[in-house]
Amino acid sequence: MDFTTDLAKLPLYAAREATDLAPYAMFSIASAGREHPEPGHPDRGPFQRDRDRVVHSSAFRRLSGKTQVFTENMGDYHRTRLTHTMEVGSIARTIGRALRLNEDLIEALALVHDIGHPPFGHAGEDVLNACVADEGGFSHNAFALTLVRELERPYPHFPGLNLSREVLVGQLGRTPENRGQTGSLLEAQVVDAADSITYDAHDVDDAVKLGLLSLDRLREIELIDRCLRRVHQRFGHLEGGMLRRTLVHELIDIQVSNVIATSRRRLVDQRIASAEDAKRLATCVSVDNHLSLEKQELERFLYRHVYRHPQVVAGREFAQQRLKSLFDSLVADATRIPSRYRQRIERVGVRRAAVDYLAGMTDQYCLHQFQRLCEPSAAENTAIGD
Ligand code: MG
Repeated sequence: MDFTTDLAKLPLYAAREATDLAPYAMFSIASAGREHPEPGHPDRGPFQRDRDRVVHSSAFRRLSGKTQVFTENMGDYHRTRLTHTMEVGSIARTIGRALRLNEDLIEALALVHDIGHPPFGHAGEDVLNACVADEGGFSHNAFALTLVRELERPYPHFPGLNLSREVLVGQLGRTPENRGQTGSLLEAQVVDAADSITYDAHDVDDAVKLGLLSLDRLREIELIDRCLRRVHQRFGHLEGGMLRRTLVHELIDIQVSNVIATSRRRLVDQRIASAEDAKRLATCVSVDNHLSLEKQELERFLYRHVYRHPQVVAGREFAQQRLKSLFDSLVADATRIPSRYRQRIERVGVRRAAVDYLAGMTDQYCLHQFQRLCEPSAAENTAIGD
């Protein structure tokens, strides 16, 4: 960013960025623009518009009906894919503001990061991946790009949301082929760090609340023990739901504070003076090595005791059988695929078109379609509206 620019000549959003953001932030006026050129907006910067476009998209609304880890029949306390996304946005903005990065871009990237998740979380993703294994597989991160570039249709003149290239490239960096490569803006790195902080904390909260894990059991994890000792120092003896909630606050706070301090140090040590510098170097925004190891221990524990818990596994199998049956029925008779997706068959093939249609569904819509197409006699007895 050239700070000699006459601020009075800039739109208000750009003048504010020029004074508020650090030199290594991504500035709105430096954006590489959109795939389909559009005039700028006098009051809203490009990344503000991206954020708004994502929030108003139908795929974003559907996140409210998609599983994060625990399915709807397990209660109504735990996170959905939408509330997970909102928590990521909130934590990412906290980190971004502390590092003086572009919060509008961060929020746009956070809100779009899981928009490509199919119904039933990773269980759904695994089965859809198997359905098109010979054609490149399915990844929710790649599907997010298909959604925002092709399938969403809010505008008459072009397909997709026509998001800024910085948002598209940021999401592209999350795809299996590009993960871990250099070339990410700091704003995208913030969203990655916030995603990990968020799910580590809320999966502990949800699993304990659901009774899949006890806090006593969790105490064997170094990071949890450290948080519980800090909770005890601050509040004395707590138990039950209050102990669980304060533990989760502490778990988030320890990680966020660590990311901010570690990243500030690295930004100075690596002499990062521009967004371009940041893209040339390895990841700069993350927790330090010690906390990273502690998080890995927690994640291994969650994998064994939560994601592979018999109740969660039973939910996975239930969902996967239904998605696979639905996929087979759509491929066997493509007239069952809605025309918007069917029109894509010539270009992407029937299997991919079916997977794209299925991936856009909420959990409940998927179950209704399964009943309608695969169990029509059962559907008669449980039609919507009964
Ligand atoms: Mg996520």
